[in-house]
Amino acid sequence: MNIENLLKKTLSSSQYQAINILGEQFDRLGIRAFLVGGTVRDLLLGNSITDIDIVLESNPHHVIAKFDVKYEIEIVSYSQFGTCKINLLGQIIDLAMARKEKYPFPGDLPVVEQASFEDDLARRDFSINALAAGINRSDWGELIDFHDGLADLTSKRIRVLHCESFEDDPTRIFRGLRYSARLGFDLENKTKGLLIAGLEFLPLLSGVRVTSEIRKVFSEENSAAILNALDQYKVMKYVHEGFPSGSDLIKRRELLGSLGIDSNNRDLYAFISLISPTQRQNVIVRMNLGNEFLKFGSDIGRIELLEEEASRSDIHDQLKQVSETAMLVAGTYVSTKTKSHLDLFLEELNNINLLIGGEDLIDLGMSQGPRVGDVLSKTLAHMIESGPLSKSEQILVAKRFI
Ligand code: ATP
Repeated sequence: MNIENLLKKTLSSSQYQAINILGEQFDRLGIRAFLVGGTVRDLLLGNSITDIDIVLESNPHHVIAKFDVKYEIEIVSYSQFGTCKINLLGQIIDLAMARKEKYPFPGDLPVVEQASFEDDLARRDFSINALAAGINRSDWGELIDFHDGLADLTSKRIRVLHCESFEDDPTRIFRGLRYSARLGFDLENKTKGLLIAGLEFLPLLSGVRVTSEIRKVFSEENSAAILNALDQYKVMKYVHEGFPSGSDLIKRRELLGSLGIDSNNRDLYAFISLISPTQRQNVIVRMNLGNEFLKFGSDIGRIELLEEEASRSDIHDQLKQVSETAMLVAGTYVSTKTKSHLDLFLEELNNINLLIGGEDLIDLGMSQGPRVGDVLSKTLAHMIESGPLSKSEQILVAKRFI
């Protein structure tokens, strides 16, 4: 089957032209190259193409250096693992060296080595992502389907290529459920059984990989369906018993949606806020989220611990180091009384400031020394309990403590 018509119809003219130029240059250098993965899958599904992925049997970074100079190719980035992102005719294109992967231990990152294009297709996650199309002159647009991906695309099935797939790389559990919800496809029966058997390998994934998968779920248009599917297979609980359920996450994300919190991290804040206080810091460490999130976790912990009967100065002391984001997030789920403490802090207590300093007290006759700080603190504490004062009123209050 040749998909030249589909390429013409679906790709923008500059995408088509850029792929053509690459094909011509690879021909000149005697290198086989193919469109692969999601690009071919989405072309066959009739979806517009945003990411162009090309695999070649050589290191792209070295190959590009040999391209005809008349083509202005910008190297956007490249890695030592044989991948290279280029800009050609305004199109960002990912070029990757064909590779083989070995998984020394379940859940580990693979050991990668250069390989044939056929090996490269065999290492992929699902048959629908293991389709390719030639871009050399001799096989331009020729569909390559060693793993029956086209049949699975037609029958709307997600199918792994081999039985150890989920064990080798448990992130494929997230990926499979993501594609299933995004495309409206079912897991093929045997794949479903393998996915369930692969759940036990989820705890072996590194924190960085888990977080990356969870972020990808959040970024999908249909993320609620994916979160429900994660619940159905108990994926979150397998990664860590402290992880929240997908259905709770769906609700909490909605609550946070309208609060104007940094949208990059909003869903992770929702995630963390749902973890029980005793597990929260462990989970943040497990996910390798770093200090910013550890601080967020401890901030919402402080808010949750605010006593209903807390005094104005208790509230001030507990919240003065807490970030506004943590207050916004916790404000969506704490009790009405605690919420009123948060409002009091944000609207009044947080704006109470000393307008006097040490010099003012020295002008009043105090000598320099630790007692100056003591009097200033007492003046501030007085205002926290009774309300803000002007500078002259603050001097009067300070006099009482001298
Ligand atoms: P999306 O539309 O989500 O970008 P994609 O198919 O382009 O989908 P990528 O994550 O960009 O997905 O990966 C590109 C291709 O690399 C996939 O289509 C798949 O063939 C392969 N791939 C990516 N991650 C894995 C993995 N964990 N295991 C095996 N193959 C993978």
